[in-house]
Amino acid sequence: HEALSKRKPVMPYCVEFDQAQRRQLELTTGFLEALQASDQLHLVYQPRVSLRSGEVVGVEALLRWNHPKYGNVPPLDFIPLISQTTLISPLTQWVVCEAIHAIKRFEREGVPLVVSVNVTTTNLLEESFALDILDMLDEHGVSPSYLEVECLEMEELLQDPRAVETIQVFRDAGVRVALDDFGSGYSNLNYLRRIPADVIKLDRSLVSDIDNNAGSRAIVFRLIQMLQHFGFEIVAEGIEDQATVDRLRDFRCDAGQGYFFHPPLSLEAALEATRQRSSA
Ligand code: C2E
Ligand code: MG
Ligand code: MG
Ligand code: MG
Repeated sequence: HEALSKRKPVMPYCVEFDQAQRRQLELTTGFLEALQASDQLHLVYQPRVSLRSGEVVGVEALLRWNHPKYGNVPPLDFIPLISQTTLISPLTQWVVCEAIHAIKRFEREGVPLVVSVNVTTTNLLEESFALDILDMLDEHGVSPSYLEVECLEMEELLQDPRAVETIQVFRDAGVRVALDDFGSGYSNLNYLRRIPADVIKLDRSLVSDIDNNAGSRAIVFRLIQMLQHFGFEIVAEGIEDQATVDRLRDFRCDAGQGYFFHPPLSLEAALEATRQRSSA
């Protein structure tokens, strides 16, 4: 016993590590309650702006969690955790249901808009994922053409027939499919032609320095040209300044999103922004 108590621990106790672990655990175990409570989760909506007309052409629904202990928890702090659990299904169902209500609201207010939702790879592998969502749209009398599904890691998805099938069912029904965060990782050039999507969203890391860096500029310009040639609509993410807008407009990029136009907004504020831009 004496020898044991004198020995130093192999790994020194680290308060920060411990707290981070505990937070992750609490976020994971607290999420079911968040889904059941009516006041912890809500969506915010970031306008997508046409670079030709300046009008709002859609909004992206982004999840917010107001945790009773931790306050506002960013989605990237908990979605990767929840994606490892079966709660990712009811979560995405909830998000889509909220998005459908937003679509109806925009329509009622006379400013019909496409609403995009983010889905995970796990969602796309679920057998009835697409059909469940088509049922929800049908129940609410909403046309599938007002919903867009933003997917990640398409190149990997294409390796799995279940994901290919899900995407096919969506597109056959008229739900738009977008490839999110394009250019944030490695892509095989040959796969570009085969991406089963309507929209490609250029990642912020690709777009952010095009005004300062001639190399990035050349890449983004050629990418936009090539992807448009294949028939995709191109949306640039994370636009933070006028110079970047000007460059992208010169490159004939279709639309943009970013703090320069609007941050993610409440539904009311998104409605207001849409009205203002359509009358400008
Ligand atoms: P994303 O889909 O690529 O969304 C864009 C993220 O960039 C959002 O962060 C948005 O607030 C942020 N952003 C927008 N404009 C700018 C800008 O000009 N500059 C900078 N620096 N950032 C900008 P957010 O809301 O924190 O979401 C992060 C990620 O979490 C999303 O990336 C998406 O992958 C995921 N996510 C958010 N909501 C959901 C959801 O309901 N379901 C799923 N599965 N994932 C979600
Ligand atoms: Mg997205
Ligand atoms: Mg993105
Ligand atoms: Mg992203």
